[in-house]
Amino acid sequence: MDDITLKLHRQATVVDTHCDTLKCLMPTFTLPRNSQWDDRSNIGMGVRSDLGHIDIPRLKEGGVNCQVFAISSVRNRTRPYALRTAMEMIDIFYQECEKHKEAIAPATTHGDIIKAANEGKVAAMLSIEGADVIEGKIGLLRVFHRLGVRMVGLVHSLRNELADGVADDRTKGGLSELGVQAVEELDRLGTLIDISHLSDAGFWDLMDVAKGPVMASHSNSRAVCHHPRNMTDEMIQAMADRGGVMGMNFAPNFVHPTQATVQGVVDHIDHIVNLVGPDHVGLGSDFDGIPYTPIGLKDVTKMPNITAELVERSYSEEDVRKILGENHLRLIKEVIG
Ligand SMILES: [Zn+2]
Repeated sequence: MDDITLKLHRQATVVDTHCDTLKCLMPTFTLPRNSQWDDRSNIGMGVRSDLGHIDIPRLKEGGVNCQVFAISSVRNRTRPYALRTAMEMIDIFYQECEKHKEAIAPATTHGDIIKAANEGKVAAMLSIEGADVIEGKIGLLRVFHRLGVRMVGLVHSLRNELADGVADDRTKGGLSELGVQAVEELDRLGTLIDISHLSDAGFWDLMDVAKGPVMASHSNSRAVCHHPRNMTDEMIQAMADRGGVMGMNFAPNFVHPTQATVQGVVDHIDHIVNLVGPDHVGLGSDFDGIPYTPIGLKDVTKMPNITAELVERSYSEEDVRKILGENHLRLIKEVIG
């Protein structure tokens, strides 16, 4: 990679809106047999590891300035302990931030992210992937907000009390009444509403109910790669019309049906930019939540390969910076503050 590309990457504020690293750091987490996720509870975030895709040294090497860490409901497997599991994940998040405070700082505002970047630290933001964790109580959204959560996805592919997920492809249901109440409360709190994993019907219900822009923390284009987790052009258009941003997911089966590559990820970016312009696309790797990775993106240290591919395709420096993080920063500033 040439020096100019690398410099552009280093100078940009790089934001990744989704990873599942907290799940890998859970000591008490009962993973299913033959789990694809490594148990790194004894290693933590501070040591450069070959396991998984993200730790602090590798985030720095990859030039990531803001990493969003998901509290994942892990679908129905943790449902009997959804809330407790979420609490443990939040505990691990803050313990790691405390232990490595010279390198990583919890962020709940746009200002926190910029401050961390200026100090050479990685800003770490909490999100919820699957609001099963509120166990049907809207009030817990307020508690999670106080604990630092700033992005919430209603479902994790499977139906819960709030909505149907993309896995409920035969029922075609949208948001429940409780889901509508959750959206209204998230709007009021200034929490970004994340449509990734929501059913198509749920997406359109959400667009009717939500007042502000929404995000897709880790979803691609269905026109480029036909997968229910990806968004149709109509959905992308509707999200862009109200100022939303979608983060590109590196999960190979969302990138390309047969062979996923870094170029394949940028094909999704190309399509979205051609459809709605350069202001609505960013990065949402899904690192540590995907069993394997596209060629050229083996872990977070390879993020500069995205920049190189954008430069190769003659994107302007301004547009590269938008895609790497400025679009998400704009959205965070507008909705979260
Ligand atoms: Zn996910």
